[in-house]
Amino acid sequence: MDNNGVSPVPSSLSHGTQLSQMEQLQAAVKRDSGGGLLAQLSNNAFFTAGFGLAALGAAASLGSKGLRQGASLLKRRMLIDVEISIRDPSYAWFLQWMTMHQRQQLAQDVQSRGIGSMESIIQKLTPRVRHLSIETAEKRLPNGTVQANFTLVPGPGKHIIRYRSAFIMVERVRETKAFPIQQTKPWETITLTTLFLHRHVFSDMFLEAHEHAQQAVEGRTMIFHPETAGWKQFGEPRRKRGLNSVILDEGIAENIVGDVQDFLASAQWYYDRGIPYRRGYLLHGPPGTGKTSFIQALAGEIDYNIAVLNLSGRGMTDDRLQLLLTLVPPRSIVLLEDADAAFTNRRTQVAADGYQGANVTFSGLLNALDGVGSSEERIVFLTTNHIDRMDPALVRPGRVDMIVRLGDASRWQIERFWDRFYGHLDATHTWRIKFLQQLEHFGILADESKSRPAKHHISTAALQGLFLYNKDDMEGAVKMIKDLVPDVRLD
Ligand code: ADP
Repeated sequence: MDNNGVSPVPSSLSHGTQLSQMEQLQAAVKRDSGGGLLAQLSNNAFFTAGFGLAALGAAASLGSKGLRQGASLLKRRMLIDVEISIRDPSYAWFLQWMTMHQRQQLAQDVQSRGIGSMESIIQKLTPRVRHLSIETAEKRLPNGTVQANFTLVPGPGKHIIRYRSAFIMVERVRETKAFPIQQTKPWETITLTTLFLHRHVFSDMFLEAHEHAQQAVEGRTMIFHPETAGWKQFGEPRRKRGLNSVILDEGIAENIVGDVQDFLASAQWYYDRGIPYRRGYLLHGPPGTGKTSFIQALAGEIDYNIAVLNLSGRGMTDDRLQLLLTLVPPRSIVLLEDADAAFTNRRTQVAADGYQGANVTFSGLLNALDGVGSSEERIVFLTTNHIDRMDPALVRPGRVDMIVRLGDASRWQIERFWDRFYGHLDATHTWRIKFLQQLEHFGILADESKSRPAKHHISTAALQGLFLYNKDDMEGAVKMIKDLVPDVRLD
C-alpha cells in the first residue's frame, strides 16, 4: 500500500497447480499420445487470441463430463488467474484503466486498418465499448455541496482485452445474493485470466493502471492531442489549474461551472430517457480573454482531462473529426478550438508546401457534434474569436447548449486582478483607485463621472502581462498604462 492508498498489487494471484491436480494432469498428459498438446495449444494463434480462454471456460462449465474434466485440467494447467475483490482499492482503478486501454486499442486497430471507409470502421468498433456501466464517485466540496462524477467502466460480464502480446479474459461478476447490509454496493469480483505463458504481463499491466490512477490522485490534468488515428497524451500531465486563478466577469465562471456540475449529476436522468448524454458550450470573444485557461481550470475542478482539437489544423477533415470524437479518452472535455474554421468553407489557397488548409465543413462539424453512437457522456467546448462567422444551426440542444462571451477586461475584472497581484500591498485600495483613474484617463475604461465611454479595450492577458512586468511595483503599473495605449484594441 503506498501513501496514496492505492495498493500496487491485486488481492490474490493463483495458479491452479495443487498437487492432486498436478498428478491428474500428468496422467492426462501421458494419455495424450502426441505428448505435446499443451505446447501445441500455447503456440496456436487462434487459441492464444482469446478464443481459447473463453472456450476452455465454457467447456469446463457446460460440456459433457469427459470434456468438462479435460477442459478443467487444461484450464488449471495452462491458465493463470488474478482475482480482485471490490474491497481492494485496485478494483476501481483497474476498471478505469481498462476503459482507457480499450479505447487506445481501438485507435491502434483503426490505424492498422487504415482510415478507409470511416462508417464501417466506426460501426465495427463501437459495439466493443458498449458494455459499460456507470461508476459514481461523490466528492464533498469545501462549500458543502456534493459533486458527483460519473465514469463509464466495463460492466459485469466477460470481456477480452489485449495487452501487449497477451489476450486476457476479464470477468466481472456481481454477486446478487450476498449483499452485506452495512455495504452500499453489491459484492463484486473481477477475475483476469490469461495463459500461464503470459503471466508476466500482469505486473506490467497493474503498474500501468496504478500509474494512471496516481495521476488522477495527484491532481493533474492530462492534455490529449490527435495523432494519426487516435489520441495521444501531449506532454506531462499538468498540475491542475485552480478555478480562482481565472478571473472572468462577474458570475460567468459560476454559471458555467454550475451548469457542468448539474449535467454531470444528471447521468441517470439522461440514460433513463434515452437522451444522448452530452452538453456543448461555445466560448467566444477576443484572443487573450481566458477561454482556454478557463476550460483548463474547469477540467481540474471536475477531475477531467482535455482532448484538444484544432479545427483549422493541418489534415483535419470531416471523417477524421468524426473518428476522433468517437475515440475520445474517458473523462475528457473535448475542446474544439477555432470552431469558426468550419464555417469559412473549404479553403482554396495552397501553401508553398502543398498544404491545402483545413477541410472541416459545417455539416461535418454538426455531424461530429451530434455524435456517432457515442454511449458515453460528452462535454464539448467550442471556442472562437469570430462568433459572427458561426451559423445559428449550431445552437441546438446537445450541440451547443450555452453560449458565453468572454470579453476584454471589465472594471470588475481589473479590480480583482489588481487585488490578486497587489492586494497584500494595497489594503486601503489607494493605488487601485489611481490605477482605475488612469485607465479612465486613457479611455481604456468608461469614465462615468464625465459620461465618457471607453475608446480602447485591454485583454485580460495584456493586463496580466502588465502586472507581471511590474511585480510588487504598483507605481510602475500605473505609469505603464500610457505605454499600453498603442497596443490596446480600438473599437
Ligand atoms: P484565450 O484562450 O481567450 O485566447 P488564454 O486563456 O489562452 O486566452 O489566455 C492567455 C494568457 O492570459 C494565459 O496565460 C492566461 O493565464 C492569461 N489570462 C487571460 N485571461 C485571463 C483571465 N480572465 N483570468 C486569468 N488569466 C487570464
